Amino acid sequence: MTPKYDLHSHSTASDGALSPTELLTRAKGQGVTSIALTDHDTTAGLAEAMKTAEDIGIELIPGIELSTTWNKRCLHIVGLGIDPDAEKLHNGIKNLQNIRAERAKTISMKLEKKGITGAYEAVMQAAGEGMITRSHFANFLLLENHVENGQEAFDRYLGDGKPAFVATVWAELSEAVQWIKEAGGIAVLAHPLRYRMTASWMRRLLADFREMGGAGLEVVTGRSSDEDIRQSCLYAQKFDLAASVGSDFHSPDNQWVELGRLAPLPAGLQPVWDLFMT
Ligand code: AMP
Ligand code: MN
Ligand code: MN
Ligand code: MN
Repeated sequence: MTPKYDLHSHSTASDGALSPTELLTRAKGQGVTSIALTDHDTTAGLAEAMKTAEDIGIELIPGIELSTTWNKRCLHIVGLGIDPDAEKLHNGIKNLQNIRAERAKTISMKLEKKGITGAYEAVMQAAGEGMITRSHFANFLLLENHVENGQEAFDRYLGDGKPAFVATVWAELSEAVQWIKEAGGIAVLAHPLRYRMTASWMRRLLADFREMGGAGLEVVTGRSSDEDIRQSCLYAQKFDLAASVGSDFHSPDNQWVELGRLAPLPAGLQPVWDLFMT
């Protein structure tokens, strides 16, 4: 069987619509042979995913997507091949989970100031045991007809600088990389072009990230254009980072993103899965 990797995806343990079992089953149906479950700041979905992976015959790469802060920017770091029980990682994400819980209260208060009530109860209910993310607030705003689509929820309320935006200090980038490394994992900078950084900031970031022990760059995502891939490929080569591919799948409702639906990696890059074996 030709290997097909998808190294970035979400389940109901954070802001995904599918349970770990449903997610892996869908991935298998799409021909994915190796999937990383990378929920935001939690490993809670991994136990179920590991069991299902065995049952249905798909390789699971245990992963996580950590929220980090670097020079006042929020950056997402995917950890691949982590031991979910590693102590530093475990303690680190506990803190991030507390930050998320507090932030959810503040976002709800800010929405109340805009005359929108009931957000907190609704997102608590929707997230259940899982992490509360801004996606949950976007869904709430949509369901309550405050906005017409998810993007409008970010543009009008939740996005950077908007009325319900809460400036948050996440984990230090260097710390997050260390947690992943100590958990035996590989740290990958997720969706590098989504941060809208200038080229000079991007170069500073990638040099810093490499220096801290970061090892990979997500070169292909579910929404990458050919130009995006070309750009990310150059960054990976220049900063000696292995290349990762991940759809960042959240929900079957998003027609633009599907598990395993990814452009091929350009030649001349080291695939991040080569590092899994060493
Ligand atoms: P959080 O980590 O709680 O800030 O939530 C971030 C999540 O919200 C991301 O992982 C995406 O799933 C979603 N998200 C962030 N920005 C946008 C946006 N502009 N439009 C739609 N979804 C977004
Ligand atoms: Mn998300
Ligand atoms: Mn992300
Ligand atoms: Mn993601």
